[in-house]
Amino acid sequence: MKFVDLNTQFKALEPEIRAAIERVLTHGQFVMGPEVFELEEDLAGYTGAKHVVSCSSGTDALLMVLMAWEIGPGDAVFTTPFTFVATAEVIARVGAIPVFVDIDPRTYNIDPARLEEAVFTVKRGNKLRAKAVIPVDLFGLPADYDAIGRIANKHDLTVLADGCQSFGGKYRGKKVGTLGDATATSFFPAKPLGAYGDGGAVFTDDDHLAGLLRSIRIHGMGENQYDNVRIGITGRLDTLQAAILRCKLAVFDQELEARQRIANVYDTALSDRFTTPHIPDGYRSAWAQYTIQAEDRELLRQHLASAGIPSAVYYPAPLHKQPAFPDCNQDNPLLPVSESLSESVVSLPIHPYLTQPDQLEIIEGILHLKK
Ligand SMILES: *Cc1c(COP(=O)(O)O)cnc(C)c1O
Repeated sequence: MKFVDLNTQFKALEPEIRAAIERVLTHGQFVMGPEVFELEEDLAGYTGAKHVVSCSSGTDALLMVLMAWEIGPGDAVFTTPFTFVATAEVIARVGAIPVFVDIDPRTYNIDPARLEEAVFTVKRGNKLRAKAVIPVDLFGLPADYDAIGRIANKHDLTVLADGCQSFGGKYRGKKVGTLGDATATSFFPAKPLGAYGDGGAVFTDDDHLAGLLRSIRIHGMGENQYDNVRIGITGRLDTLQAAILRCKLAVFDQELEARQRIANVYDTALSDRFTTPHIPDGYRSAWAQYTIQAEDRELLRQHLASAGIPSAVYYPAPLHKQPAFPDCNQDNPLLPVSESLSESVVSLPIHPYLTQPDQLEIIEGILHLKK
């Protein structure tokens, strides 16, 4: 059994994917070829975002937005410590300070009440400018964008949604890609919409921002690559990845439904004995992960592993405890929820090609241990 089964997905899509790759090999435009722009149109149509700027990874998607917003030294950017390192890494990378805000214990996403407290603290401190917030849609569930937006408006913060796990998710009738001033997503192979290598995209309705991003992703180009008007990065998405992603986008809604069905079965089987994911009314998760809380996580994981059942821990340590962020309050008394959940969360297989017998085996494995 696999935690994420890309082989079965490939077998299901093999003729289309091979033909798409063949077309790229034939036309030979490996960088910024036609599939890149076709994918951007497909993604704009899918999400309803006005602009989609594809790029080399989810990390670069986040980074390019911070660069376009000219966030840097002296700026505070608020985010959660209960996320993949890239979310906070890009903040430090541009020279700004990540200010970690604790999460809601039920959704694992940034707690809006704690966010506003953190903004007040930064403002009172008078050392940093409060500039932006990066809510993370952890495990595929969108953050509470209405509440975050109200705080952002009040305090003049821009909102960069880290939708690297939530492409396909929904919040109050709106799709991920339309929930912040800009949204970053990732096409890393294991994400809900995954390529066969690295890839990402930024979504925004802001014409000016989209123009800046298109420049930044190609070395800060102006009229052409040899007209260098700002500092940028090598941030392009490969044509081959775009071609592959177009094939996968065609079946993406079916895959989301499969993930939802699997989540429902887990909920029914496990919710009496474990804390299962909480999806508030009006939200749709993209189910990047199905994460439960276990009192004795290591025992459960060992027991599953001995039965050949894979599991994973996202994330074993909140980012303020990581050596990469030495100045970020290693002993921050304000982050107890992130600290305690990092000790109990465990994620179960939920890829769309998980078979019913395999899922029953997982469930039996878990319940057997509990008795
Ligand atoms: C995967 C991920 C990223 C980074 O995406 P890459 O494509 O791997 O660079 C950023 N934030 C979150 C929350 C992620 O899960």
